[in-house]
Amino acid sequence: MSDFQAVTHTSSTVAGLDAYRDLPIKQQPSWPDSAALEAVRNELSTQPPLVFAGEVDRLRSRLAEAAEGKAFVLQGGDCAETFAAATADNIRDRVKTILQMAIVLTYGAAMPVVKMGRMAGQFAKPRSSDSETRGDVTLPAYRGDVVNGFDFTEESRTANPRRILDGYHMAASTLNLVRSFTNGGFADIREVHQWNRGFAATTAFERYEALAGEIERALRFMEATGTDFKNMKTVEFFTGHEGLLMDYERPMTRIDSRTGLAYNTSSHFQWIGERTRELDGAHVDFFSRIRNPIGVKLGPSTTPETMKALVDKLDPEREPGRLTFITRMGAGRIREVLPGLLEASKDLDSKPLWITDPMHGNGITTANGYKSRRFDDVIDEVRGFFEAHREAGTFPGGVHVELTGDDVTECLGGSERIEELDLENRYESLCDPRLNHRQSLELAFLVAEELRAL
Ligand code: PEP
Ligand code: MN
Repeated sequence: MSDFQAVTHTSSTVAGLDAYRDLPIKQQPSWPDSAALEAVRNELSTQPPLVFAGEVDRLRSRLAEAAEGKAFVLQGGDCAETFAAATADNIRDRVKTILQMAIVLTYGAAMPVVKMGRMAGQFAKPRSSDSETRGDVTLPAYRGDVVNGFDFTEESRTANPRRILDGYHMAASTLNLVRSFTNGGFADIREVHQWNRGFAATTAFERYEALAGEIERALRFMEATGTDFKNMKTVEFFTGHEGLLMDYERPMTRIDSRTGLAYNTSSHFQWIGERTRELDGAHVDFFSRIRNPIGVKLGPSTTPETMKALVDKLDPEREPGRLTFITRMGAGRIREVLPGLLEASKDLDSKPLWITDPMHGNGITTANGYKSRRFDDVIDEVRGFFEAHREAGTFPGGVHVELTGDDVTECLGGSERIEELDLENRYESLCDPRLNHRQSLELAFLVAEELRAL
């Protein structure tokens, strides 16, 4: 199939795509006006796809390589993208951060790095409570810009389906810019490396200078042997987000007229979150029916039985690259829980891809009232992930992180030693705390060291 084969047909009966509607479903907004919602769903289903079937198939084969131990996956971006922050500079700096990290990881792993944003569609959020109370006012919880506004007023917090269309257009313009950056010369490996040199030349990060210097020598060596760097000015970059808001995901899912198969054209990859992965729930059913590679978050309560049942539901054909488990155990639990899952996975006649999300199991609330994470806990979980895989003889296939290209102060620590009081300076996330630009690069250098030791 050509990459540009548009998948535009939206028959509602094909492949049981609407079966989810009769199943228990969690974490959906209550829309006040169902006729308005239906009109939006219909309109969205006629909008052009954001990604193409051929690209989705290509990602699946890249992920299959990672599951085989022949590639490593880097996925990163905001916890919750916002419409206000979808600016050119902000998108550029996030892409730049991911590209910088990817070069370091490529060198450390000595294998290709599959680059994927939590971007261009990461707008809907699961919440621990349906409502939020401030003083004596209780309003619906903020569920992400694609549903309602963050401002604490009745008007803003009321779910508004027009936001679904706004989200689609934001995703389209974000993806357009991402495609330009990654295809238009911005991704030149030598340029990206120079940015890393700048980082490692800063006093706080000088322990990474040796590795940056090695990469420099490798690039010079390539240059000396006549490597054509022209081919290295573009990179393959995929998008992914949590497949949560069904009133967005379903209308974006189209039937490929050539194969009759369903593709969710909102992004290349979607994952099912920790709160919506019930085996008999709506999300697992819906995502089991589409061709996109699918991720599932696995928290510390996951049993080997649940993990196996998820494989049976989401990857019944045991297709390489189809299923990714994104573990988010917490630094304190990973060494206890992950080994059992890895052992059990050996009984399956499939090889899921294992990725670590070292963010979501490590949340804390600081004394001054911020949701934060300690950089040391993040790194400790990554190390626990590598240890468990080394022990089990399985492949630690990637990292999934919440990050931004900006100098925010949301996570504690790192070589810049962000402290609790610093959180007051530049805390911008509306949801979970992200690694800032430098913390992200530092993480990449530390993961590269783990990869070298494999
Ligand atoms: C997230 O990725 O932002 C998230 C909510 O994760 P989890 O489902 O793992 O809690
Ligand atoms: Mn999050």
